Amino acid sequence: ELNVQDIAAWIEKSNEKMQANKEYLTTLDQEIGDGDHGINMVRGFQEAASKITKQDYTKPADVLKDTAIMLMSKVGGASGPLFGTAFLKLSMTVKGNDTIDFGTFANGLEESVNGIKQRGKATEGEKTLVDVWSKMADYFRREKDFDQDKIAEEAKNAMEQTIDMMATKGRAAYFKERSIGHVDPGSASSFYIFQALAEVIG
Ligand code: ADP
Ligand code: MG
Ligand code: MG
Repeated sequence: ELNVQDIAAWIEKSNEKMQANKEYLTTLDQEIGDGDHGINMVRGFQEAASKITKQDYTKPADVLKDTAIMLMSKVGGASGPLFGTAFLKLSMTVKGNDTIDFGTFANGLEESVNGIKQRGKATEGEKTLVDVWSKMADYFRREKDFDQDKIAEEAKNAMEQTIDMMATKGRAAYFKERSIGHVDPGSASSFYIFQALAEVIG
């Protein structure tokens, strides 16, 4: 079960990972985009983390909702509203709960994926962050309990599977075949979010 402190720690740890990997995320986006993904994610998660540390929360849903709002409003790029939608759907699913059990989290992820897909008009296999979130939703659907190592491993595999894909959505789609052979930037930052979750659980 995840309580309000766990969820706050998740966002803070995600922020740390974005800060630590800013250059890497930017490099990935230089290869098949406009080179701002590191900057975008750092800005959004910095704002979310500082908002959360300044406030006292009693419900996990409120932390997730404020995270969503900050990502939607502070990230300039296409990714902001998409990550924002993911956290907003999670928040809506766990609304009212004092703690989030495994099954509820799994339901929340499923809602997140649906939300991202709808917002981005994207589906699996298009070399976007959908590919990581969808794989994680499938994984949670199959499992029964939080497992630190498996969550991180599953997210890493999902991210790496984007290497061989050709982008058909977002800026990377302009690169057509040349987008093949690179990790999708949004999938890399999604990996950090799930790696942060795994560390919070452990
Ligand atoms: P921008 O492309 O506006 O500069 P970012 O660089 O912050 O925004 O984010 C790029 C990432 O957003 C991509 O790597 C991809 O994962 C994701 N993305 C872009 N467009 C879409 C879309 N239509 N649906 C889903 N994900 C998308
Ligand atoms: Mg970009
Ligand atoms: Mg941009």
